[in-house]
Amino acid sequence: MTLLPTIKELLAMEPEGQKVVVRGWVRTKRETKQSVFIEINDGSCFSNIQGVVAASLPGKDTLKEALPGISTGASVEIRGTLIPSPAKGQKAEVSVQEIELIGEAPADRYPLQKKAHSLEFLRELAHLRVRTNTFGAVARVRNRMAFAIHQFFQERGFYYIHTPIITTSDAEGAGAMFQVTALDLEAIAKSGKPVDYEKDFFGKKAYLTVSGQLNVETYCQALSRVYTFGPTFRAENSNTTRHLAEFWMIEPEMAFVELEGNIAIATEFIQFLVSTALTDCAEDIAFFDQRVQPGLRESLEKVARTPFTHMTYTDAVRELEASRAEFEFTPYWGCDLQSEHEKFITEKIVGGPVVVTDYPKEIKAFYMKQNKDGKTVAAMDVLVPRFGEIIGGSEREWRLDLLEKRIDELDLPKEAYGWYLDLRRFGSTPHSGFGLGFERLLMFVTGMANIRDVIPYPRAARQADF
Ligand code: ATP
Ligand code: MN
Repeated sequence: MTLLPTIKELLAMEPEGQKVVVRGWVRTKRETKQSVFIEINDGSCFSNIQGVVAASLPGKDTLKEALPGISTGASVEIRGTLIPSPAKGQKAEVSVQEIELIGEAPADRYPLQKKAHSLEFLRELAHLRVRTNTFGAVARVRNRMAFAIHQFFQERGFYYIHTPIITTSDAEGAGAMFQVTALDLEAIAKSGKPVDYEKDFFGKKAYLTVSGQLNVETYCQALSRVYTFGPTFRAENSNTTRHLAEFWMIEPEMAFVELEGNIAIATEFIQFLVSTALTDCAEDIAFFDQRVQPGLRESLEKVARTPFTHMTYTDAVRELEASRAEFEFTPYWGCDLQSEHEKFITEKIVGGPVVVTDYPKEIKAFYMKQNKDGKTVAAMDVLVPRFGEIIGGSEREWRLDLLEKRIDELDLPKEAYGWYLDLRRFGSTPHSGFGLGFERLLMFVTGMANIRDVIPYPRAARQADF
């Protein structure tokens, strides 16, 4: 072992008086007549390890000398022995023989003194907030879920594809885009001349991608099962608790798979991720359950074992209308389901996750497979309690004539889709896929209510510091 055992590893050991070294940050220091108790956390797990310093150690003045500088937030190294702890709730503690203050955190200046700061306050301290219980737990769950996503797909024969972040196609239709330019816009504005994008880096307008799907479809038509997992950008000015300007998205795409298979994989995927969080992040989930979202664990356990309900859009709208519930936006057939509708369907009508299929073609993207009724497309959204849409997907239109017709109907620039149409010209296959917003998944799994709190550095309208 080239690295010292972490606190997580130490706490998993049988305490037998073995010599240990602990490095981390002080969470609290408490003094009694006989001893000083120092709680240390190194982020390896939710739990702290407790170091106990006897108040009087013969010939160990240095130990007491180091103590005054040891305050909440300071970094320290302690050396001692791992012994069974008499305190309840912890198996082991460290009987400290040596202590070294590495980096001080003066109490009059270090901002994280209180036990519980508001999430709003902590958002202004993105560089320090990860030292709190909440953000440490979010970071660990985020890591485990990212790993689980790769595990899920790799174990099922999917290949991980890196799709581009810069795109010159402005008609993906998934949301407002950020423009990318190398032109000196200020100088052009001063000159009074119009902007000539032929002089721009790519010779035309370019943007940050809103989805990797169209690009990953090309790989799907050769490798059969593929997925992307990368950053995605939308100039959403909506300022909701569910939208970021920069977020991560997972987009699997499967050849020879129709809507039914797509629903099955999406369901298995969500259940796999939720089960993994419950088993491998149990300590962090227990914290979220107690402090952030009471009942979280039970609701996740239910999601992991209950089959998802299926419902067509048409039935969903009928149920919404029949409910006579008060909505800000009155639902009708043809409307884009609002978050309030989605929540109502999953929380009140179904009482669990639900897959809604066959949406009106007018409210969905051009590439979705057109159904025989001429009105709907083979779309599927997965809705979950607490915020609604977590996954949006569909079977793709794979018939050249129908896809071309749709592009014409919507007056999209056909030239720009030449390569995409080629996939339908040569060896076309039925295929399906979906997009899972990574941060939406994390909100669901952790119970955190604001999407800005499940990504290390949130980017949203007027928020891009750090
Ligand atoms: P919504 O209606 O919630 O804005 P959407 O219909 O725009 O979502 P899609 O284009 O289908 O979403 O994108 C696929 C997934 O990406 C969504 O199901 C969601 O999980 C996630 N997502 C979409 N927009 C955002 C955003 N601005 N921030 C974070 N996640 C997002
Ligand atoms: Mn959106």
